Amino acid sequence: AKEAGRNTFRFYTQGMNAEAMRRLEMETGLRRALARDELLLHYQPLLNLATGRIGDVEALLRWRGKDGGLISPGEFIPLAEETGLIVPIGEWVLHSACDQARRWRQDGLEVRVAVNLSGRQFSDRHLVETVRRALTESGLPPRLLKLEITESAVMRNAEEAVRILEELKALGLEISLDDFGTGYSSLAYLRRFPIDQLKIDLSFVQEITRHPDGAAIVRGIIGLAQSLRLQTVAEGVETVAQRDFLKDSGCDLVQGFLLSRPLPPQELAALLRREPG
Ligand code: C2E
Ligand code: CA
Ligand code: CA
Ligand code: CA
Repeated sequence: AKEAGRNTFRFYTQGMNAEAMRRLEMETGLRRALARDELLLHYQPLLNLATGRIGDVEALLRWRGKDGGLISPGEFIPLAEETGLIVPIGEWVLHSACDQARRWRQDGLEVRVAVNLSGRQFSDRHLVETVRRALTESGLPPRLLKLEITESAVMRNAEEAVRILEELKALGLEISLDDFGTGYSSLAYLRRFPIDQLKIDLSFVQEITRHPDGAAIVRGIIGLAQSLRLQTVAEGVETVAQRDFLKDSGCDLVQGFLLSRPLPPQELAALLRREPG
């Protein structure tokens, strides 16, 4: 029994070392990726249901690994958050996305670009200055930038969030509350946040056609947004049935594989050029 106990202990520490090694390797790799331009952005279009046009795109981060394959943010954002690397990475994302949107605009393709901010970035005291700099250095008109901030990030310290959101709004950009419904929001704060949009998380969108309650919840969120005079975006729209339901329910924008996957910048530009005049 004693022997078994020792072995268990040894395997346990070996397991921990392997995990720690994997994380350390990934952290080193991510630092190198940032320094060597191995990070890139894909862009997913949002369809405006009233106009039938693409007025917005969301920038989604990708990491090109050693083998040339793309690593998705779900695999490295949590580590980037923990290590604080998300701050310089997020700054890179802001600058690249603003620069891209400004170039598209010069080519006659005017779209608003949405950039995701993690909780750690949102609580970084240089955030407002970083965003201001990305706008001035790129020359992008502020109305063509949207920041997507998660419900959980703003609710962590709601009082402070109101202040930061007001400073960001003063720059002239748009703000969307991302992953809405997955955390909790106090309705009192929802009214005080100077936001433009609620983004309904795909977990709710997927329930629309699976369960009557799912449909009722989505209708409820849209109704709530309308009464607060906020726009609604539904993400993860994969089927015509979901899109039709959202349109009937008064949702403003839809985003998802039904319309397009996130695309490299050139492919997104080609999609925009194919749009009816
Ligand atoms: P999110 O902001 O909620 O983004 C939506 C995710 O759903 C994206 O995954 C997108 O590719 C995916 N998606 C879009 N349409 C569909 C659909 O029809 N069906 C399904 N099943 N999925 C769809 P992605 O690109 O892997 O990003 C995952 C998460 O990583 C994002 O969730 C966001 O929280 C985070 N993220 C991505 N880029 C950045 C970034 O630049 N900065 C920060 N801080 N976080 C980022
Ligand atoms: Ca988002
Ligand atoms: Ca989401
Ligand atoms: Ca998110």
